[in-house]
Amino acid sequence: MKPRIRPRAAAALVAASGLILSGCVPPPYIPPSQYDPTAIGEAPQSLVFPSQDAEGPTEAERIEKAGRLAAGYDYAAATKLLAGAEGAAARDARAEIEAAEAGTVVWEDNSKISHLFVHSLIVDPRRAFDGDSRQQGYLDYMVTLDEFRKVVAELHRRGFVLVNPADIAAVDANGKLTYKDIRLLRGRKPLVLSEDDVSYYEYMEGDGFATRLLIDGDGKVKNEYEDAAGKKHIGAYDVAPVIDEFVEKNPDFSYRGAKGVLALTGYNGVLGYRTSTSEYADSKTLASDIEAATKVATALKEDGWVFASHTWGHINMAASPVQRIKRDLARWEAEVRPILGDTDQFVFPFGADISGVQKYTGDKYEMLRKAGFKFFHGIDGTTAAWMQKDADYLRQARINVDGLQFAKEERGDRPVLKNFFEVKKVIDPRRPTSK
Ligand SMILES: [Zn+2]
Repeated sequence: MKPRIRPRAAAALVAASGLILSGCVPPPYIPPSQYDPTAIGEAPQSLVFPSQDAEGPTEAERIEKAGRLAAGYDYAAATKLLAGAEGAAARDARAEIEAAEAGTVVWEDNSKISHLFVHSLIVDPRRAFDGDSRQQGYLDYMVTLDEFRKVVAELHRRGFVLVNPADIAAVDANGKLTYKDIRLLRGRKPLVLSEDDVSYYEYMEGDGFATRLLIDGDGKVKNEYEDAAGKKHIGAYDVAPVIDEFVEKNPDFSYRGAKGVLALTGYNGVLGYRTSTSEYADSKTLASDIEAATKVATALKEDGWVFASHTWGHINMAASPVQRIKRDLARWEAEVRPILGDTDQFVFPFGADISGVQKYTGDKYEMLRKAGFKFFHGIDGTTAAWMQKDADYLRQARINVDGLQFAKEERGDRPVLKNFFEVKKVIDPRRPTSK
């Protein structure tokens, strides 16, 4: 089988990537991953762009959009969009959508869905790994922008497709979870991605990370990043814009628009804005920061991102007494939920879950349940997938993609990342070694 990318589509792709990078200093170049139809089911890539014999611009635009929807496995929406379009190109597109859908299968087992997570990406390793007291933390718990881009390209090449927790299970009228079918092209594998602590914490200032998320002049969510010389750049310098740009070029990497989960605390504000009313009560920009953060959060949700509570104060839920958890949950409700909107997702700080493999019971669970949380995410870096499917909640373990896990993998200690990528192929040579 040959990839069905027409010459015009290839030209459009080049033009599109130029567009994406214009107006900012491009991050280090990574070639776009190659579409490999022999490895995985065939995606209707040709549908992404209008066909040559499209009639008017309106129909051509509809065909293009339908193509993107179909490439992202939303065949029903794609077909609906083309209803009433009678041109030859629309007929061809409909036939291609039908053929593509016929090539899908229901994912075998929703409890076998992997979940990877990262922290904010290191844009400038020289400043992160500069020998100061924070270096070891960055080495252990973070990955660089370069490493993340390579991981994403490899995940796509291996047939992984981003899904959101709501694609795995939905809450019914009685508040119970019902597990849903995920229909993917044969050979593709669903994957949840999350990023923790998307606050651009005060302690990270000057250490080579993005400083915040914002909406650029084209209405897209990007990062602000200040380089070592103090020059500001707008672009993809952290997980959300990197994934957004990747899915823009590779719509088959996202299941019906899903991107991932962003887990947020509140004590330093959210998304790079100092929005905590208790911590920044004297800030003259408090109201405008809250307003800006709310706009960015809304735009992220429209782009397929889902927010999770990561507690207000990054507290250890296993070790903390009930009263402390109660106060923390109230602060998150007061300061963070109004900005991010409602969520039923909870990501345990430190991966410290309130229970082992036993079912949830007790006061802590009751508090979380009453606060509306139904999807709980811990950490287990030793198994490709772990899930507990309950009628009242879903628990899914996540694998940390970070320096500690890279080191564990390289020691051959219960390797798990090899299911997703090879550490030695993604690891940043700018990481100092302890040798
Ligand atoms: Zn955290």
